[in-house]
Amino acid sequence: MSAPDSTGLGPGAVLGILGGGQLARMLALAAADLGVRCHVFAPDTDSPAFDVAARHTVGDYEDEAALARFADAVDVVTYEFENVPSATAAFLAARTPLHPGARALAVTQDRLSEKRFVAGLGLAVAPFESVDSLADLEAAAAELGRPSILKTRRFGYDGKGQVKLAAGTDLTEAYEAIGHFPAILEGFVPFSREVSVVAARGADGAFAAFDVCENEHRDHILAVTRVPAAISPGTSVTAIAAAHAIAEALGYVGVFAVEMFVVGGGQDEHVIVNEIAPRVHNSGHWTSEGAETSQFHQHVRAVCGFPLGSAARRGVVEMQNLIGDAALRWRELLVEPGAHLHLYGKRDARPGRKMGHVTRVRPEAG
Ligand code: AMP
Repeated sequence: MSAPDSTGLGPGAVLGILGGGQLARMLALAAADLGVRCHVFAPDTDSPAFDVAARHTVGDYEDEAALARFADAVDVVTYEFENVPSATAAFLAARTPLHPGARALAVTQDRLSEKRFVAGLGLAVAPFESVDSLADLEAAAAELGRPSILKTRRFGYDGKGQVKLAAGTDLTEAYEAIGHFPAILEGFVPFSREVSVVAARGADGAFAAFDVCENEHRDHILAVTRVPAAISPGTSVTAIAAAHAIAEALGYVGVFAVEMFVVGGGQDEHVIVNEIAPRVHNSGHWTSEGAETSQFHQHVRAVCGFPLGSAARRGVVEMQNLIGDAALRWRELLVEPGAHLHLYGKRDARPGRKMGHVTRVRPEAG
């Protein structure tokens, strides 16, 4: 039996979304523009996406009875986070189309399988070693040298589950710090910039990439995205080609992001793939005002089997995340000419919490 697909859906379709954070919220808003109704499934009663979805279910991702009812109530399922348990993905995929598919999840939710997959496509990645014990870590540190970065294979985000091995770092303490979980050690990449490619692939193989954007992190959290990235046209073409190769190899359907490091300069400038996110991504938020089609509309189009939209950029764009108290400036931002404010409806502005973002688009110079 072939897996269910979502071709043939149209306006009026019901899109199920696993996860109820700001990404699901912005997906549901975009879906509404396209006449698609959303049913959000998330464990937290105060999920930001519930405010804007036609229906929601509060449930655990392991609750098969709730998942079965959800699958029956929707035409296609997508998700806003890559840590969807594989059993949940398989359970849903047997009942309803799931985009992106289970393979994209399996490859990207484990850093070791992701690195092997990307390297297997002939794309550059940081040198890495698998670490399952302190002895492995000692051998890997001897091999890759310092600085290097120890990362848990699973459940890492925004710098969590990571320790930098500097010259004096004690390996026992570093392994302790990541909770002795299966990990990888990565050689340190002396990058000049961090960029990402946000792109979409449709079920028919159509591919549309937004322009490469440049990301500035503070305290391991994305602070600002600028587009276009200050990289050469050749590097940009290679970066997008890398993303395209990844999407093809995964048979990917939907929007995804590939985070990359830029190293070298002039003729030697090139990219090293760091991470794939099988979902809409914070570094693509600029597209809401900065591109012909936003990443959220594009994802809804792709997973529902609609034609992809143009990914053309509309100017020079900057997206700034509003983290913690930064969102208290909302009044000021609302009156700033050219500023587009997005708030996620979260009640507590805890430090490090993404509360909203603001996008500014300027006309292209010249
Ligand atoms: P990640 O969770 O893999 O996205 O890593 C979070 C951040 O840590 C990246 O955005 C980089 O700033 C930094 N980082 C991760 N891996 C490396 C590496 N191999 N070399 C240098 N910096 C890194």
